[in-house]
Amino acid sequence: MIKEENGVWRSWNDNLVYNYKNLYKITTEEELQDVISKTDKIRFFGTKQSSADIAAGVDSLIDISEFNNILGYNDAERTITVQSGMILGDMLEAIEAKGWCIPCLPDINTITIGGALATGTHGTSGKMLCEYMTSCRLVLADGSIKEVKASDALMDAVRVSLGVLGVMSTITFACEPIYTLHIKEGPEDDSEWLPKIKERLKKHDFLRILWLPHTDKGYVITGDKIDPNTEVKEDLGPKYLKHRRSASKILYKYTHVFPWITAIANKLLYKGFFSSTKEHKGSLYQATVTKSRGSTLELAEWTIALDKFPTVFNELKTEINKWSNKSFIHIPMDVRFVYKDNSWLSYAYKADTVTMGCVSRNAATADTYEAFKSIEKIFLKHGGKPHWGKRFMAKDQELGKVYDKWEDFKSLRNTLDPTNKLLNPYLTQLFNKN
Ligand SMILES: Cc1cc2nc3c(=O)[nH]c(=O)nc-3n(C[C@H](O)[C@H](O)[C@H](O)COP(=O)(O)OP(=O)(O)OC[C@H]3O[C@@H](n4cnc5c(N)ncnc54)[C@H](O)[C@@H]3O)c2cc1C
Repeated sequence: MIKEENGVWRSWNDNLVYNYKNLYKITTEEELQDVISKTDKIRFFGTKQSSADIAAGVDSLIDISEFNNILGYNDAERTITVQSGMILGDMLEAIEAKGWCIPCLPDINTITIGGALATGTHGTSGKMLCEYMTSCRLVLADGSIKEVKASDALMDAVRVSLGVLGVMSTITFACEPIYTLHIKEGPEDDSEWLPKIKERLKKHDFLRILWLPHTDKGYVITGDKIDPNTEVKEDLGPKYLKHRRSASKILYKYTHVFPWITAIANKLLYKGFFSSTKEHKGSLYQATVTKSRGSTLELAEWTIALDKFPTVFNELKTEINKWSNKSFIHIPMDVRFVYKDNSWLSYAYKADTVTMGCVSRNAATADTYEAFKSIEKIFLKHGGKPHWGKRFMAKDQELGKVYDKWEDFKSLRNTLDPTNKLLNPYLTQLFNKN
């Protein structure tokens, strides 16, 4: 284990910066146990890509990203067991080589498995990533190990637990046979895609809508399972489409000073990058997950029961189209779908759910991005839940109203970590432990 002293911790987009006294780079479960048991206050991190202030902010930190091996496969049960610091993309490449997949993936492959699970990472048209976890070894605040299996009552609390019940050490995932998707993409008016959501969720294996605020358009992406040998005439559109993110960055450069420029920029971005159709095929991972991003950004994301989404969407659209407010929103707002589960802090606890992202391409000026405040206000009003890894202001009082199991989770956390060893200042406020 390598130990570094008195350094500076920075999140990937530099929005969170903390001094630390001790940084432990662990590579084994024993080292993880040892450090946790001997430290009074500690947090741990993966690739630091969360916008929420949940990964650092205390004197002692554990970098888990070098605890990243595949421990084994069970071919009969189609499972893989990995160390929690493994990068998601590396695990996905490994299971694809076995002819397997996890059928619901986020649009990022550079995050760690532990970070992804802790924050309730999800994809679209399926269950949350954590629902594919069949067991894990959890290092508790006292350094002991608790093995949690899918059949244990504790699993519903552990699946999404922000790293406050313990640190996930090794994790086993259930995989499914790999499949090929025929992807079709194209723009649609809001009046067309919004009423078709339920019908499309039944019809397609994959559905994602990139909503383009201030244009009245969405960019609809559908995917249907096909035989891998089916011929699909690949049409990825003009070559310049790959410059969309760089073009956005330039067009949005001064939107923190003149927010209204966003409305004009969005219309240009729609015309340049979202007005044509595309068609291609590939595995869920190869065809739908972004593999590289040229620059950083800042994210919020809110979730709401599927049945309430049209109301919330229309209210949000009306609000941000008022020129009197400054909530101009960068492209795109990512609309995705998560099917119901039983995990206590899941966005989809007992209800099929829609998630709606909100991005600022100017990470450094995110504090002044009014859109984050408007989306939070409207979603909270309707009982929406924030993404745990992204930016939001809500704390204990508000979260208690939207999570049925919030108090149960808090009391379990109190039992497992009675000295609040695993809370940083942000998490202390979140759980009202001041
Ligand atoms: C560009 C981008 C795209 C994204 N796309 C999606 C998406 O499509 N869907 C989605 O749902 N989210 C998405 N996210 C959010 C992302 O999945 C989460 O923020 C995730 O937590 C980042 O992983 P990380 O390794 O960087 O974790 P970190 O930010 O380093 O840590 C996050 C949290 O996990 C805890 N943690 C880390 N390791 C462990 C462990 N082993 N055991 C317990 N707790 C642990 C940390 O203490 C911290 O509280 C995206 C984020 C970005 C920046």
